[in-house]
Amino acid sequence: MSAEGYESRIIDGKALAQLIEREVGSRVESLKSDRGVTPGLATILVGNDPASKIYVRLKHKACERVGIRAEDYLLPAEASQEELLSLIDTLNKNRDVHAILLQLPLPKHLFPQEAMEAIAPEKDADGFHPYNMGKLMIGDEGLVPCTPHGVIRALEEYNVPVKGKNAVIVGHSNVVGKPMAAMFLNRNATVSVCHVFTDDLKKYTLGADILVVAAGVKHLIKADMVKEGVVIFDVGITKEEDGVYGDVDFENVIKNASLITPVPGGVGPLTIAMLMKHVLMCGEKNF
Ligand code: NAD
Repeated sequence: MSAEGYESRIIDGKALAQLIEREVGSRVESLKSDRGVTPGLATILVGNDPASKIYVRLKHKACERVGIRAEDYLLPAEASQEELLSLIDTLNKNRDVHAILLQLPLPKHLFPQEAMEAIAPEKDADGFHPYNMGKLMIGDEGLVPCTPHGVIRALEEYNVPVKGKNAVIVGHSNVVGKPMAAMFLNRNATVSVCHVFTDDLKKYTLGADILVVAAGVKHLIKADMVKEGVVIFDVGITKEEDGVYGDVDFENVIKNASLITPVPGGVGPLTIAMLMKHVLMCGEKNF
C-alpha cells in the first residue's frame, strides 16, 4: 500500500517550515539592522539523553539558518534542582538572552514544573509557563506551545476554516493536547479532547472535520475511524529500528483525508520553525 496518487493531500511540513523560517530570518535581519539586536536563545540540557541531544542540535541548526544566536548550556545528569534554578535565574537576568528553552524530559530526580515556572514568562520560548498558558486560556495568545501553534499556522496556510468545525484532539498533554484545545476554542471550533481513558475513541474521531493526534501510539488511527474529507495532523512519533512512525496509519487514512501531515516531515519541522518565531518575538519585545 502506498500514498501514490494522493500526493496533493499531503501537508508539506518541511516546505511550510522553510517559509516560516524565511519570514523569521528577514525579521531577524531587520531587528539587527534597525535596533542592533541579535535575538539570542539559551537552551538548557540536563544529562545525556541521546534523543534530547538530537532535539537540541536541531534547534541550534534552525537558529543558525535564521540568524538567531544560540547558546548551549549543559548540566550533568546528577545536577541538583538548585543548580538548575540558579542557571535559569542567571539566564533570566542576562540581557543578551532573549529566550530560554529547557529541554525535556529532565532526569527523574528533578522537578520540571518548578523549573519551567522559574523561566521568566517573557523569555518562555516554549510557551509552557503557567502565565503564558493562562493567557492562552483567556484568548490572549502570545508565547504559546510550538506544536499546536504550528498546526494553526498550517491550517491558515492551507485555507482550512476552523470556526464552527468539529476539532477532535487525541491526547491531553500540557505540551500539545490542552493548548491545542484552547487554540481551537479561541477560533470558535467545537472541540473534543480524547485520551487514554476515552470510551469508544472511534465515535469521536469519526465526527472530526479536523483531527489532531498526539498519543504516541503507532497507527492508532485507522481508515475506518475517520470520515471523508477530514484534515489530519499527526503529531505522534514512535521510533522503531526500521523507521519513525506516526499515530496515523498514513497510507490507508490518506484515502479519506483531504489533507494530512506525514511522519516524518510534517508537524516536526513546523514545531521547530514556530520555536524560531517565538525566539524572534522574545527578541523583538525584550531588549
Ligand atoms: P504524552 O506522551 O504526554 O501523553 C500521551 C497522550 O495520549 C495522553 O493524553 C494519553 O491519555 C493519550 N493516549 C495514549 N494512548 C492513547 C490511546 N490508546 N487512545 C487515546 N489516547 C491515548 O503526550 P505528548 O507529550 O503530547 O506526546 C504525544 C506524542 O507526540 C509523542 O509521540 C511525542 O513524541 C509526540 N510529539 C511530537 C512533537 C513534534 O514536534 N512532532 C511535539 C510534541 C510531542
